[in-house]
Amino acid sequence: MQYEFTIQVLPEVAAKEELLKKEISVKNNLSLKEIRYIEILKRSIDARQRIVKINLKVKVFVNEDFVKTPIELPEYPTVDTAREIVIIGAGPAGLFAALRCVEWGYKPIVLERGKDVRARRRDLKAINNDHIVNEDSNYCFGEGGAGTYSDGKLYTRSKKRGDVQRILKLLVGFGATEQILVEAHPHIGTNKLPAIIAEIREKIVAHGGEVRFETRVTDFELKNGEISAVITQGGTVIDTNKVILATGHSARDIFELLYRKKIAIEAKPFALGVRVEHTQELIDQIQYKCDVRSRYLPPSPYSVVKQVNGRGMYSFCMCPGGVIAPCATSPGEVVTNGWSPSKRNHPTSNSGIVVELRLEDFAAYERFGPLAGVYFQKEIEQRSWELAGKTQRVPGQRLMDLVAGKVSTHLPQTSYKPGLSSVDMGAVFPPFIHDVLKKGFVDFDKSMKGYLTNEAVVHAPESRTSSPVRIPRDRQTLEHIVVKGLYPCGEGAGYAGGIISAAIDGEKCMEACIRSL
Ligand code: FAD
Repeated sequence: MQYEFTIQVLPEVAAKEELLKKEISVKNNLSLKEIRYIEILKRSIDARQRIVKINLKVKVFVNEDFVKTPIELPEYPTVDTAREIVIIGAGPAGLFAALRCVEWGYKPIVLERGKDVRARRRDLKAINNDHIVNEDSNYCFGEGGAGTYSDGKLYTRSKKRGDVQRILKLLVGFGATEQILVEAHPHIGTNKLPAIIAEIREKIVAHGGEVRFETRVTDFELKNGEISAVITQGGTVIDTNKVILATGHSARDIFELLYRKKIAIEAKPFALGVRVEHTQELIDQIQYKCDVRSRYLPPSPYSVVKQVNGRGMYSFCMCPGGVIAPCATSPGEVVTNGWSPSKRNHPTSNSGIVVELRLEDFAAYERFGPLAGVYFQKEIEQRSWELAGKTQRVPGQRLMDLVAGKVSTHLPQTSYKPGLSSVDMGAVFPPFIHDVLKKGFVDFDKSMKGYLTNEAVVHAPESRTSSPVRIPRDRQTLEHIVVKGLYPCGEGAGYAGGIISAAIDGEKCMEACIRSL
């Protein structure tokens, strides 16, 4: 017999099978001897009470053995002679579009400006150690896109986006741990992601698809309102009338190209702010209400949302036990973001803390048309670069000094490898953002007592949260509203936010594209 239960237990009980069996048998009046196996279906942490508990959804096997069903990948056909579909960008959107393309019997040609995961590492080292930014290979560009050297958090705020479980199962099929199917807030970790991404590419190639690295798309050709070719930096013309455009939110040259060619794009609200670093120990103490985190609990994340001066200020892409990374995509700018290893065992935690921006905030940039938000964002990134000394060092300020409007005389250690320069955030941000940050951090402390400490340090800017541009598409066909055969896809087009939603959108665009053939 099998029974499904939801149960709340102490972390130690959740971690030890024998204790869990005992608790389930007592609470549900089952004979302990007859419980053969407990399958965990869902796990989440409830840290709202004084004593932290684990919520479990379990399937209990009573007098019946558990037979594991392996997670299998779909049957991919060989597509080397099939009709070709061009995909620009090998981020989660592009790669999952390519997988779907092979699955449905068509040949994907993936064009990626960056390098494969292995070669890309050298360029990440160069940013971290030598302050050298390669415009085609960095934390945002290269195989796997912005998701490869990330925390690999695999949840999406919106439940409406599509079949999350399907993407998670595919990731397991490509080597991710099955735990991601169970955890309420799954993550993979920077150390594990590259191998999974490489497996995906190898699958695409083994079945006849193509992935061309160091191939930057620089132009499109149109004929009678339809896409007819894409042109790469070397001048190669690839004739095609089906293109999935999945170039991410940092591909400013693509936005510029679309604008120049009068292909409709729109300015879109986004959010921008700082990345704050605390010790993980402090975050655990606040969140788990303890002096020392139990060894049965993971390093704690946090999530805070406040309304300040009528604007949202919220935590974004929080990385427990993680590191702040230099995520610029061009020389002459600085950008922060965060990653963490699978064990999240770095002594620091970091999170983007961002302020909601509206279209009217870019009024002074009206001359840039739909690119107004891009220029607003770029100006803050370039100003930060200048203020911090024109390297990959970023402006830094202790948290209480930020609130007090005081330049920090001495900055604490940071996980951000290129280093910090002491700068008042009032010099980095326009007053309306600075003011929200100053007040908002005081409010954050009301929800998380101890958060506002001068041992925490903010790094600026956290500016690549979501795309400042939308590439509009038809709701039904998912084609660009004007250019036939062009499918704006993923985060850069404004239809996704994060790895999972980008992957889902990649599949959706490919399905729509194939249906139109
Ligand atoms: P991208 O991943 O941006 O991929 C676009 C690809 O297109 C890139 O590989 C780029 O090189 C390529 N490209 C661009 N222009 C061209 C061109 N002209 N020609 C050819 N190729 C081009 N999200 C999460 O859900 N969880 C996390 O934990 C998380 N952590 C993050 C940590 C970091 C450090 C960063 C930078 C991002 C993180 N994100 C995270 C965000 C996540 O990575 C993105 O939301 C996601 O990758 C978007 O997918 P995408 O495929 O739409 O675009």
